[in-house]
Amino acid sequence: MVKINRPVGQDAGPTGNQRADVIAVQKLLNACIRTITPLRLLKEDGKIGPMTINAISTFQQRVVRLARPDGRVDPGGKTLDHLNRTAGPAGASTGAGGAFAPRAKTFKQRLDALIADIRSTHKMTMRIDPGRTVEWQQKHHVAHMFLYNKYKSHKPANVESGKRTIAWSHLSDPKVRWERVDWKDFLRTKANEVPVLEGTKWKAGHEPEEAATRTNAKAIQKAGGIGSGGAAMVSSGLKPCGEPCKCSAGRSKHLDSKAADLNTTDLATLGTKLKAAKAGSIDDYLKKFGLHRPLLHHPKSPESWHVEALPDAKL
Ligand SMILES: [Zn+2]
Ligand SMILES: [Zn+2]
Repeated sequence: MVKINRPVGQDAGPTGNQRADVIAVQKLLNACIRTITPLRLLKEDGKIGPMTINAISTFQQRVVRLARPDGRVDPGGKTLDHLNRTAGPAGASTGAGGAFAPRAKTFKQRLDALIADIRSTHKMTMRIDPGRTVEWQQKHHVAHMFLYNKYKSHKPANVESGKRTIAWSHLSDPKVRWERVDWKDFLRTKANEVPVLEGTKWKAGHEPEEAATRTNAKAIQKAGGIGSGGAAMVSSGLKPCGEPCKCSAGRSKHLDSKAADLNTTDLATLGTKLKAAKAGSIDDYLKKFGLHRPLLHHPKSPESWHVEALPDAKL
């Protein structure tokens, strides 16, 4: 049980809001972050401010169910009691009595609980790498559909004869509309330059060439870290994809906040800490929060950082 000596929060009086007490409350609130989403994790800096007060009020409203939340935590009071019970014995969101129950929780709630627990139990901040944009998804989707197309279920509307890839005649057609992919990034001339459009036709001597475009597409895939050889598949950002392939490829989970990429450096640090604490593997830990790494063992593009919600049936 975490104790405080003086009141913390709004109207805490002249002797309230002492640094150590404020830090204790901030740690407890962070350990309970799943109950006060979408509020963000607090800086555990011992300084009282609108963020911490708002977090206290929100917790009082949602968990303590006070009719009039006052934004203050008193020593031995109701709010502190609830914070301790919700946070669990070690001020963490895991452990006997305070275990996080991932069933029926959203991906976002699971991820927030994981991050809060990493902070409170393992004393580190797990960063989330910026999400992939629709443009990023589309660029790599088209490169894949043009070069390899390993999708079983997605077939381009205009296939190269005898293959499952986008027909070059279609891809290089100046009348084809690209929704999110900039053809200037993609198509290349024989001289490896960006083609030039004159009205609705390619300018003579500046038209796209297949081999050069193919080389460029491979470079795009490699630069994006799409599998070691650039051959892996990427879900499209649009549904249906809307690009020159006109396939019906599924939308990326990243774009609907159903997947996140953990920072690889932080992930490695976490693995080391879990090992040192004899606390099991990263995957055991993720499972407690109803999360998993579905692409960890993917043969073409293993992704140790990509996290999604584990289906409830597998919990
Ligand atoms: Zn497509
Ligand atoms: Zn990912």
